[in-house]
Amino acid sequence: MGTGGKSIGAVPALTLLLSFMACAQAPSQVPGRTITMAGNPYYNESDSTPLDLPDSVWRKVLDPEVYHIAREKGTERAFTGALWDHEGIGRYHCAACGNMLFLADSKFASGCGWPSFYRTEREGSVRYAEDRSHGMVRTEVLCGRCGGHLGHVFDDGPPPTGKRYCMNSAVLRFRPQATAPEPPR
Ligand code: FE
Repeated sequence: MGTGGKSIGAVPALTLLLSFMACAQAPSQVPGRTITMAGNPYYNESDSTPLDLPDSVWRKVLDPEVYHIAREKGTERAFTGALWDHEGIGRYHCAACGNMLFLADSKFASGCGWPSFYRTEREGSVRYAEDRSHGMVRTEVLCGRCGGHLGHVFDDGPPPTGKRYCMNSAVLRFRPQATAPEPPR
């Protein structure tokens, strides 16, 4: 995917600008606020507008591990990712584009070694494709915004959906939920 021929002439300047902004401004945890990532001008946690970018563009802005999984359909080894047993209240975004994918309350301890969820944050958070690689027939899960590979979904999850979205930690970014400020004493 991602063979669109969009002009990228403005990208280096934009990258520099966003890098500066990201350094000057610590990421906020205010819900709904646009949150960017240094060095990746396409990352936006409040934008779900589809992106159609060629791999050559992604290669310039993603960490090699994220690129390998998202654009080359790689898989991290079980029990090695940062989020397989991660707990916390918040949201999980696509590490490539920032699209919101899962809420923490849909995460469950599957024991499979990869972060697992029983439903997506909304319809359209992800899209699906048939994957017949490695002698199996599986349902691949792709980011609904950037089309990056995230993992697979299986039918052995818990109620209420019975689904197990088996994701790679490296292509997820956890954003803790903002907490209310302490009341004045
Ligand atoms: Fe994405």
